Amino acid sequence: MDRILVTEKIAAEGLEVLRQAAEVDVRLDLDKAALLEIVGGYDALVVRSATRVTAEVIDAGTRLRVIGRAGTGVDNIDVNAATRRGIVVVNAPASNNVAVAELTIGLLIGLARSIPQAHVSLQSGKWERNRFVGWEVRGKTLGLVGLGRIGSEVAVRARAMAMHVLAYDPVVSLDRATQLGVELVTMEELLQRSDVVSLHVPLVESTRQLIDTARLAQMKRGAYLINASRGGVVDEQALLAAIDSGHLAGAALDVYSQEPPPADAPIIHHPKIITVPHIGASTAEAQTSAGTEMAEGVVTALSGATPRYAVNAPFVAPEAWSVLQPYLSLARQMGRLINQLIHSPVRGYDLELRGELADVDTQPVRLAVIQGLLEAVSVERVTPVNAPLIARERGMRVTERTDPDAESYTGLLVVRVEATDGEHLFWGTVLRGEPHIVRADGYFVDFIPQGSLLFTYHRDRPGMIGRVGTILGGADVNISGMYVGRLAPREHAMMVLTLDEPASDEVLAQIRALEGIEQAYSVNL
Ligand code: NAD
Repeated sequence: MDRILVTEKIAAEGLEVLRQAAEVDVRLDLDKAALLEIVGGYDALVVRSATRVTAEVIDAGTRLRVIGRAGTGVDNIDVNAATRRGIVVVNAPASNNVAVAELTIGLLIGLARSIPQAHVSLQSGKWERNRFVGWEVRGKTLGLVGLGRIGSEVAVRARAMAMHVLAYDPVVSLDRATQLGVELVTMEELLQRSDVVSLHVPLVESTRQLIDTARLAQMKRGAYLINASRGGVVDEQALLAAIDSGHLAGAALDVYSQEPPPADAPIIHHPKIITVPHIGASTAEAQTSAGTEMAEGVVTALSGATPRYAVNAPFVAPEAWSVLQPYLSLARQMGRLINQLIHSPVRGYDLELRGELADVDTQPVRLAVIQGLLEAVSVERVTPVNAPLIARERGMRVTERTDPDAESYTGLLVVRVEATDGEHLFWGTVLRGEPHIVRADGYFVDFIPQGSLLFTYHRDRPGMIGRVGTILGGADVNISGMYVGRLAPREHAMMVLTLDEPASDEVLAQIRALEGIEQAYSVNL
């Protein structure tokens, strides 16, 4: 019988699932040395967030086949070390969704009816019925920034309250949004049209201080902001200023840039801001399901099957590795590039694996493209094991076909993005062992997709390249390479610059302001 070591307290229901399948030892008293000493006797290790499952622990766990994490993040587990050893890491990423979504709805109604303020008023001996005249959520527009697991649960509940729901999410498909009764729009349109904006994005580089002075100013006058995602997504000073100036009517927060916030922080004492102490996931049900979801994963993995929520990819066929390996990094970089270059809602992605790629197992390449498309915009670690699941949840449509003909290349990966503003075509290949993008959004170019890049869409005319170069030079940004592709002389053209350091927002704004520049994007790969 398999043996499972549990080093932290998990829900009784979860333990029960484990006990049905294996012999379970719950040892809450282990320090690092004791864990190292006994882990070698177990087939599975189950932790929450306190146990540090380092490479050393994993190496000592010579029998380990699975590590279970009762909860979402896997920061305390060295997933790479586990992957190298072929150990499956499972977690419970869906367990919080409903809890956070329900809190969000609570905060929404709290804002509409000033429930916390009315409660405090009555407790202080007043009876202020006229002060607390609220508004109905029915018929109002809710804008969801992020339509992932939690955002979609909020959408369903808001629709049930007869709200009109808008969302901005760079990877969710129109089909998925339609299914949820949600109108997919650009970020700008969402801010301008929503009566209430609610944030459900991960805290990653691109979402840090996403809601800043400029974005708050784009919101409707009298609108409200809800944040139950991560504190760092909102510039709190800018939020206070927007409320004090009367531009926003109020806000509701579960999360803060610093947790706990200082006792005298203005953000928690403002009369128009409802605050709760990061309780989004704190329900009995969420805690139970973190235990059971993880335990089911552990049992499935012990039986040799693929669990629903596996974080890593323990299996790579060694024969295919030498051909595939350079294409996997190409595929992933192409996904990341496309994610940052295409800004319209996407209907689907069609892949063509051509030339030598047509002869190998195509699945890893498809997964690597999906991984690249998702990884900049997901909270959890995206790996080839969980990428298909996350993609399915977002309703991403990815089709693939093979073709032995690869033009003049040995192998060619073609990604065709079908978006609301038309088709965008990308070609990638491997030259001398290095990935190259040879067609970007239709334009023939040739560059290595890595580091900081700048893309312009412009009118081909004399002096264009010089003017962009002058602005970058003026900002002390060094250009390491430059590639121009055009459709015809003096027609639409694309310039790709590889940079030694990223172009700042100011530099980008100056370039966008140049006559003849239609669009400019900074891309980090
Ligand atoms: P998820 O990964 O399922 O969904 C996040 C979505 O945001 C993805 O679909 C992604 O494409 C989208 N996204 C990424 N960058 C974006 C951007 N710039 N603009 C618009 N959309 C963008 O994550 P989830 O499980 O739904 O979690 C959402 C947030 O809630 C995370 O920040 C998570 O940490 C937080 N959370 C909070 C609590 C709490 O107690 N308050 C509990 C659990 C999770």
